[in-house]
Amino acid sequence: MPFCVVKCGYCDFNSFAGSSQHERERVVAAMQRELELRRCRPQTIFLGGGTPTYLDLALLEQLLETIARCDLSACREWTCEANPESCDTQTLQLLVDHGVTRFSIGIQSWDPARLEFLDRPHDRDAAERAYECARATGAAVSLDFIFGVPGQTLAAWQQELEHAIELSPDHLSCYQLTFEAGTKLDALRARGIVEAASDEHLRDLLLWTRSRLTEAGYLPYEVSNYARPGQECQHNLGYWRGNDYVGIGPGAASHDRGRRSTNLRPLRAYCEAISTSGCASFDAELLTPEQRTREMVWLGLRTREGPSFDRIHERTGVDVETLLATELADATQRDDITRTETGIRVPESRIPWLDAIAANFLAAAASTSV
Ligand code: SF4
Repeated sequence: MPFCVVKCGYCDFNSFAGSSQHERERVVAAMQRELELRRCRPQTIFLGGGTPTYLDLALLEQLLETIARCDLSACREWTCEANPESCDTQTLQLLVDHGVTRFSIGIQSWDPARLEFLDRPHDRDAAERAYECARATGAAVSLDFIFGVPGQTLAAWQQELEHAIELSPDHLSCYQLTFEAGTKLDALRARGIVEAASDEHLRDLLLWTRSRLTEAGYLPYEVSNYARPGQECQHNLGYWRGNDYVGIGPGAASHDRGRRSTNLRPLRAYCEAISTSGCASFDAELLTPEQRTREMVWLGLRTREGPSFDRIHERTGVDVETLLATELADATQRDDITRTETGIRVPESRIPWLDAIAANFLAAAASTSV
């Protein structure tokens, strides 16, 4: 859902502020059409963006009814992203009445100065109200935070997280602030107006977060995600396990047994493609079994369970131990990985270096455009 109240300075998602009602109606109608044509039978749904709760009730209901007409007999989790400025009881109840089981709320910070730095349009009171509204629906609730904002000390981050723990959500996502190319924040950094936190400081924040949330009863089941037992996000676990997914909407990505594609990002082009041909995907590529294997190892290393070599073999036909013999030996020697019953994982002490460790398992094996 590519619409937001404002465009946050750090955001590189395909989301747009300042849309008109007409534009939102046009995009929702195209998404409904795409949903009908793609005949999904999902095991999980993630309604995100963007800000789905930004739609007015009538338009949101229209979309929800189309989703509800899909075959949802196998669906065991339906998450909806929400932002505090557009989170009211009526909207959240409508979502739950149509099948939503879980809310993921973008809090990011409780602190007015940091919220302003991130261009977030809500304040602490609105964030707390949003949490209470979501809780009152009976759905599971996850809260999103960002750490590593320039100038944020460890003590300041500790205060932020302690307040989140006090509220006792089912799930927490704590993302390190990144400066993505093309964002306002990255432009400010390039001009020397803001300075990123040092790697060492970010490591301290991450390691403290993981140990504090573990102590508070949240399992760090992925590098940025923490859940009470049984509250892991099944949808995101599916990505990290290399499952297939169908993306609906402008810029949405899909993956079908090694065939990867992305929908057109501009709203008008997406709507026109759906209305003329029923398909808005523009850059399909077919991953080779080797490339798919490497990607599944790379993604799986983000999780505490690590990649399962049997699962990878089932999906790609490739024996991981043979293909990656050199990479596995090198990583083991550096203590970057430990063995598990099903494969490998990155030990807790090496988590701050996860990106570099996982990247060693990717290679420039070429895919084919299709
Ligand atoms: S609310 Fe989320 S999707 Fe929208 S601009 Fe901000 S970070 Fe991006």
